Amino acid sequence: MSFLLVTGKIFLCQNCEAKIQIEYEGGAILTQVGDKNVSQQIEYSKKFGQPHDDPEEDGFYLYDEDEDFYLYDFGICSKCYFETVFSKNKIREESNQKIIEGYQRIFNEKNKTLESLVDSIGKCIEKRISNFEIREMDKLIGETFDPDFGDKHALLSKKKRKLNKMFQEIRDKVKAYFISSVLNDELLGSSINSFNKSSLEKWADLVGSDRRKELSVFIPFDISQPENLNDYIQTENTVRRPIEETSKLDFYHQQDVSLNKLEENIVIKPKDIEEMINPDFILKSFKNRIEKMIIK
Ligand SMILES: [Zn+2]
Repeated sequence: MSFLLVTGKIFLCQNCEAKIQIEYEGGAILTQVGDKNVSQQIEYSKKFGQPHDDPEEDGFYLYDEDEDFYLYDFGICSKCYFETVFSKNKIREESNQKIIEGYQRIFNEKNKTLESLVDSIGKCIEKRISNFEIREMDKLIGETFDPDFGDKHALLSKKKRKLNKMFQEIRDKVKAYFISSVLNDELLGSSINSFNKSSLEKWADLVGSDRRKELSVFIPFDISQPENLNDYIQTENTVRRPIEETSKLDFYHQQDVSLNKLEENIVIKPKDIEEMINPDFILKSFKNRIEKMIIK
């Protein structure tokens, strides 16, 4: 049961214990928050209470959840952030906020760039598959490919069986081969390289002479913005939008971040391309191509 009847959310300040309550559009709606969150939210409800007497019926208010990935557990309100953190170290906080804002900006640009390349990447892979020559197979599998599978006189059905078996084993190699063909494509490769180069320059400007490896930063989250309430997936059943009347207000989550890790995240890597492609489609269409060439 990964759905919970959710009405709103409560941001609980760990410093002054203020509860900032927001309502979601549509009121009590079954929301797919994930199994872990269902049990955790029920536990929080016992600990901190719920605005409705019968949340099972009227809907739960989520407590600002603990997200393992971000290493935060609740957070602090804007007032506490300025009074207890910012005012004590204005220079450090301004510099941290500048780095985080800049990082988010470049990261968004990266996602936009990737989105704008989706079609070209698909077409590039399709073209590479339809132009694939059997002699390239050695390079792809990393050893000599024998189109007869050791038996020149094998029946068609036996060859097909061998081919199917081989495809199960080379799945990752096929994926990697066509991802690298995207990166080596003249046009796509140069778009990606120039994006990466400009991102790294922007990053260098942003970080400047900062030699810290790790930053402990307070990351603002505007509580009037929609939020994906599931740690693993994002669908229309997992994202909830606060009602229009919700005032814009930042709630801060403390997080330790590594500057190297942030720098790695702003460039387009093979892994990003991998997440954009449909490996089953590539595998199927590549197998068809090979089948046509070796099974006559
Ligand atoms: Zn507070």
